[in-house]
Amino acid sequence: MRLIADYHMHTKYSGDSKNELEAIIRKAIELNLKEIAITDHGPAHSGYGIKKENFKSLRKEIDEMNIKYPQIRVLLGLEANILGKDGRLDIDEEMLSLLDWVNAGYHFGSNLKHDLGIHFVNVMSRFFKSYQKKAVEINTKAMVGAILSNKINMITHPGAKGPIDVAEVAKAAASKGTLLEINNSHGHLAVEEIKIAMNFDVKFAVCSDAHEIENIGKVDHSLDRAFIAGLSKERIFNIE
Ligand SMILES: [Zn+2]
Ligand SMILES: [Zn+2]
Repeated sequence: MRLIADYHMHTKYSGDSKNELEAIIRKAIELNLKEIAITDHGPAHSGYGIKKENFKSLRKEIDEMNIKYPQIRVLLGLEANILGKDGRLDIDEEMLSLLDWVNAGYHFGSNLKHDLGIHFVNVMSRFFKSYQKKAVEINTKAMVGAILSNKINMITHPGAKGPIDVAEVAKAAASKGTLLEINNSHGHLAVEEIKIAMNFDVKFAVCSDAHEIENIGKVDHSLDRAFIAGLSKERIFNIE
């Protein structure tokens, strides 16, 4: 069994990473990966989101790298932000036309202007149990809405930044062929969540979410959780 692709990693264009694109690609080649997706934070991520001008130049850089390194396929992706209950993402038409791969995830504090309610409930649910149910309801609505109304390749770390109803999310993901990530850096999907999602006809991916070069292709924690949950390896999209 081996990892053939990693669909979640950040470059210096995300505020929380210093990775250079070429260093990422060299590391991925060293690991024998066939394909990677470069997935910086969407522009609405507070402080860490990619700037639109960098996104456009990244497209050009990736095109050049694909010529320079024909042994690997490098995709331009994005880790778009799920902005609120309507499931809207922070990708405009122009960005969409440049993308090869779309990840989407919920991140705390992205574009507070768009939907303050979702952030309020998630903050409160951290301190008060009584907000848990409401948080699950709102987060699930946002994630399911995002899956159904966009073309998303993979939902990143489902449940990591706010509680969700995993069954509802897995059902929606199955209907659209959207992968659910078993993220190596965050603990989600967790073992119990994988067990629930497995009941639906959904596929999974194990990804690093690397913010440092040495973490690219690192999915040991993800695989541990997948196998503890009893997930068969045929259901993991990016292993062979
Ligand atoms: Zn994330
Ligand atoms: Zn990420």
